[in-house]
Amino acid sequence: MADPTEPSANQAASLADQTLCIARSMAPADGFASLTVPIHRASTIVFPDAEAYLNRNNHGPDSYSYGLHGTPTNRTLEAQIAALEGGAHALVVPSGLSAITLVLAAFLKPGESVLVPDTVYPPVRSFCDQYLTSVGITTTYYDPLLGASIAELIDASVRLILVESPGSTTMEVQDVPAIVAAAKARGVLVACDNAWATPLLFKPLAHGADFAIEAVSKYMGGHSDLLMGSVAVTDFTLFTRLKDAFKLWGLGVSPDDCSLALRGLETLAVRLERSGAAANDLAHWLQDQTGIERVLYPPLLDSPGHAEWRRDFHGASGVFTVVIEQRYAPVIPTALSRLRLFAIGASWGGTRSIVAPMDIASARTVRPWNGGLSLLRFSIGLECIDDLKADLKRLLIGLSAKT
Ligand SMILES: *Cc1c(COP(=O)(O)O)cnc(C)c1O
Repeated sequence: MADPTEPSANQAASLADQTLCIARSMAPADGFASLTVPIHRASTIVFPDAEAYLNRNNHGPDSYSYGLHGTPTNRTLEAQIAALEGGAHALVVPSGLSAITLVLAAFLKPGESVLVPDTVYPPVRSFCDQYLTSVGITTTYYDPLLGASIAELIDASVRLILVESPGSTTMEVQDVPAIVAAAKARGVLVACDNAWATPLLFKPLAHGADFAIEAVSKYMGGHSDLLMGSVAVTDFTLFTRLKDAFKLWGLGVSPDDCSLALRGLETLAVRLERSGAAANDLAHWLQDQTGIERVLYPPLLDSPGHAEWRRDFHGASGVFTVVIEQRYAPVIPTALSRLRLFAIGASWGGTRSIVAPMDIASARTVRPWNGGLSLLRFSIGLECIDDLKADLKRLLIGLSAKT
């Protein structure tokens, strides 16, 4: 069938310049092949005839109907994420946060409830407390380390359990298989926020979760220039419901951003390996330094959930949290300003090493945090480790200098 956007050569000869500015022919792609994924930008998607247009929504969740719902660039990325997750389907959404809120909004109804770890990414807590509450959906926060005894919290109203492993800032690795087993026994869905590990270091679907959620903004994008999230599933019915909700909410992801994510994925394995190795060295070194009370990082023996990490994960990424001794807490801001390489900021997982002072007191209700402003969350990037260590020494000197 002829491409409806292209005038034939005969037509072109008789068209006015004003029309020829718009009605162009596509150069034939025969003989052209490259290693890159084309960026297909589109709002309007065109159809060969009226019938095809009228039936545009009847070809399944991955068909092309409107640019908002995705182009071949989006689908290529989604297929690659589905493959990495070991799932059958994936959907990209505008942020990691929207990936989580979409799952919550799509699968919870008024009167139902969701179990959420106390260590959840704080904006998700706000969504639960402000939005879900307002529509009659209850959130019960639980101790991230409770494992199989989560069964005691599963009453008839519970429809979904969220896990985030390791937990935000305090890095508790959860017993996901035990939580999944308790959920399955009661017909409850499990969604896993896998931002720290990425599908390379932990595969939620292989451990029985129904939804594998990634903050593509972090390691998968990998260059601090992109915001995106993804949800992967095995079950087609879950996927259809998710995609329906995605359309209802008017969500969409630009193919340009998908192109950046596709490029980021190509180096994900080497970046993670390099960041993880450097983070492992620095975390071990830091825990013996003056002024450091503790380092929270799953590969460390005394980090919460270390045994589960060793059992279930294929390695560690480059994010860890340092607990500074309380007496040094007041000088942390001035000590941080001595750093020359580490940038101060959030949304980790890029090439540049960053650090963020964390205030988590208001983000914990089950296990209160009494440590004040003594937490520094680090994301180790791809710089030379000797330079990073020299920078951290400046920070450590800054801690002891003024007390
Ligand atoms: C950053 C992050 C998110 C959200 O990702 P955005 O793309 O920034 O919205 C969700 N969960 C965790 C654990 C994160 O660290």
